[in-house]
Order: sequence, then structure tokens, then C-alpha cells
Amino acid sequence: MRRKNKPRRTPHLSATKRYFKVKGAGSRGKELKFICDRMLGTLARYLRILGYDTLYPEELRDAELLFLAYTQGRTLLTRDTRMGARISPNVFVLKSTAPEEQLKKVVKKFKLKTGDNLFTRCLECNTLLVEVKKKEVKGEVPPYVFKHHSKFAKCPECKKYYWSGTHMERMEERIKRWEEWM
Ligand SMILES: [Zn+2]
Repeated sequence: MRRKNKPRRTPHLSATKRYFKVKGAGSRGKELKFICDRMLGTLARYLRILGYDTLYPEELRDAELLFLAYTQGRTLLTRDTRMGARISPNVFVLKSTAPEEQLKKVVKKFKLKTGDNLFTRCLECNTLLVEVKKKEVKGEVPPYVFKHHSKFAKCPECKKYYWSGTHMERMEERIKRWEEWM
């Protein structure tokens, strides 16, 4: 997930502002919310699969990640032990490089659960998905997908479509494994 040798761009205020915008689109009140550092892209997707509001702002600097975590009541998940050394209860350091091991630690630490929120967020941008009628997706998804599926959802932000395809069935097996940790 992590792009190697990516030049570290200079973060600017507009990038931070963009993540403030996501907050309004994705917040469900007092639920657990996370922000993952740039080393934890796969973990961010796993948390979104479970329905947890998880930001993954690759381009932000440490100070900006901490700022967002603090102002939005998010827990910062990081692999950077220097971040963990900062005096903040909102930082949780993960030592493992394996995404499933990282998820296991987060599930156990924060007592995460599966349930109605499963598959309710866009895996790309974290926005809550909206259900769409089958007739609305005609021409928007591959014909074989349209033919064989009846339930569809769309991300109102990045316009990506989702359906319960074979990849989701494979995902469900994985989720059963995750549930054993809960
Ligand atoms: Zn999206």
C-alpha cells in the first residue's frame, strides 16, 4: 500500500482543510475514530471495511497528524515510535509491519466490533456510502456485474460504486477471522 521512495511533499494548509471536510461527511457522533500515518495504508482500509471512520492523509506531516487527531477526537495510529513518545493519550504505536497483526492489536486495544457498520464506508476516501437503485448503476459498472448483482452502493465523494461481489465473499472469510479477536 505504501508507495516507496515517495518524495515528501511540503504539506500546506489546504490539505489539512480537506480532512476537516471529510469529518462532516463521515462522523457518527461519539464513535471511535482513527487517523493512520503513511505507513499504515492497508490497516486504514481494514478499519474502513469494519466501518470505523479512519483518515489516511498520506501527505501530512507528523505535527499535522497530531493536530487533526487532537481537534477531531481521533486516535493516531502510527509505526513511528518517536510519535508515541509525545505526551498524548491519542497516539497508539504499532510495532508490527503486517497489516493483520496491526489490526489485531487495534481490535484488542480499542475493543472493536463488527456489526451493522460493516461495508458502509468507501475504502478509498472514508466517506459513508449511500445505497443506489440497480437502474441507476446501468452503464456505470461492468455489464456482468450489473447482470449478476442486485445491491449497489455509491460513494458520494469519489463516485466509486460497490457491490457484493466475490471479492466481498472472500473478505467475509477474512472478517470471520478478525471476529475471533473481538
Ligand atoms: Zn470514496
